[in-house]
Amino acid sequence: MINRSVYEHYIALNKREYSSVELTKAYLEQIEKKDKKTGAFITVTADGALDAAKKYDEGKCRKSVLAGIPVAIKDNICTKGIKTTCASKILQDFIPPYDAFVIEKLKAEGAVIMGKTNMDEFGMGSTTEKSVYGATRNPLDYNRVPGGSSGGSAAAIAENEVAYALGSDTGGSVRQPAAFCGLVGMKTTYGSVSRYGLVAYASSLEQICPLSRTVMDNALALNGIVGHDRRDSTSVCRKYSDFTIGIKDGVKGLKIGIPKEFFSIGINESIKTAVWLAAKEYEKMGAELVDVSLPNLNSVLPAYYILSCAEASSNLARYDGIRYGYRTDDYISIEELYRKSRSEGFGWEVKKRIMLGTMVLSAEYHNQYYKKALKVKNNIKTEFNNVFDKCQIIIAPVSPSVAYKIGGSENPMRDYLDDIYTVPANMAGIPALSLPCGVGEEEMPIGMQLIGPAFSEALLYRAGYAYENRGKAGDI
Ligand code: GLN
Repeated sequence: MINRSVYEHYIALNKREYSSVELTKAYLEQIEKKDKKTGAFITVTADGALDAAKKYDEGKCRKSVLAGIPVAIKDNICTKGIKTTCASKILQDFIPPYDAFVIEKLKAEGAVIMGKTNMDEFGMGSTTEKSVYGATRNPLDYNRVPGGSSGGSAAAIAENEVAYALGSDTGGSVRQPAAFCGLVGMKTTYGSVSRYGLVAYASSLEQICPLSRTVMDNALALNGIVGHDRRDSTSVCRKYSDFTIGIKDGVKGLKIGIPKEFFSIGINESIKTAVWLAAKEYEKMGAELVDVSLPNLNSVLPAYYILSCAEASSNLARYDGIRYGYRTDDYISIEELYRKSRSEGFGWEVKKRIMLGTMVLSAEYHNQYYKKALKVKNNIKTEFNNVFDKCQIIIAPVSPSVAYKIGGSENPMRDYLDDIYTVPANMAGIPALSLPCGVGEEEMPIGMQLIGPAFSEALLYRAGYAYENRGKAGDI
């Protein structure tokens, strides 16, 4: 039963084919069996999960679609009374006194929270190797990374340790692990899911996002966490309708743009072909393909790294050894306490980004770098708007290659450059759905992205569902 989708569990639980406690125990057994190898979890909350499952079985919670079904949470989302480490030494003993907005929502839905998943420290990375707890492995090939930074969440699903999971996506951290593990991940419109309780890395770019096995599951999970929250000043106040409405309506007449720049920069041939073939499938299903262009795509990546590091340097200033987490043992002055706690508590990648961010925000350089990067951010928004005058959504690859071998991160530039296709959606604040579209080298999965204008999630799910279920008969 553990390889089933959320939707299948929902049906089975309702038919009383198995109870939530039985389901939860089956996943806990799988975690016990597999997680030593995979390393998807930092913390497993077996007792809390079984309590929630029991509540469901006793009819003491809402019978929503997510009720009684196990979910994993990335370890940068605050969970009351449960360690939230961001995979960093500096937060290794941090126990939040409150739940993030999305956790409050999931609890209200009756979800069964199985624990907290591994990640690159503070979300900075693309491989889930940069964690103080060690690397997570890709269940499809243990010698490869699951992608990152939400690699623990993706690996937990791919290893059948949970039915679905939450991650966060600042520059691709949900979509790229989905692509590397053969899963579905949605980067939602900026402001649609509250960031209250998400430990900040680059606040103007990131969103909490669902990862799942199927497109339908993803829509169901997003239904559970979307919504306005006044505790996040960037949360958009609007009414969201059920993302599964119209999901089966197909793509007849849909105009899908093919941005030529996405198919030219350093891309692996097998990926280019797979995404092309997917576009052709859409044509067969009645969609119309149109050529579009985002001429300044090349400047988006460097601008992303300037802005994300700038914001990180400011957001991470709060870890001073006094208010949160780790404190050095050995100091004689307050300055030394700050310096040593931060030097010993942060990993190398985080320190590098704090230094870069501090530089680009300095009086001397902020016009030259930070302000220019903000202009690039505005510009890409305009370019996407122009593209969406010609088509309703666009199709693109997620990553220029399939999952890397573990240990390849000695070349940091590779990880940075490979974010080229995912960061544009974060810079423009628009939604992007990553879903499998074939297999490449050594049978590793390939992912494609469907990107749409702000608040077009329902349309992206409809298009994703049509592709995922093409050629299948009957109700899925
Ligand atoms: N790989 C990107 C980075 O390191 C994206 C990270 C993310 O989305 N959290 O910044």
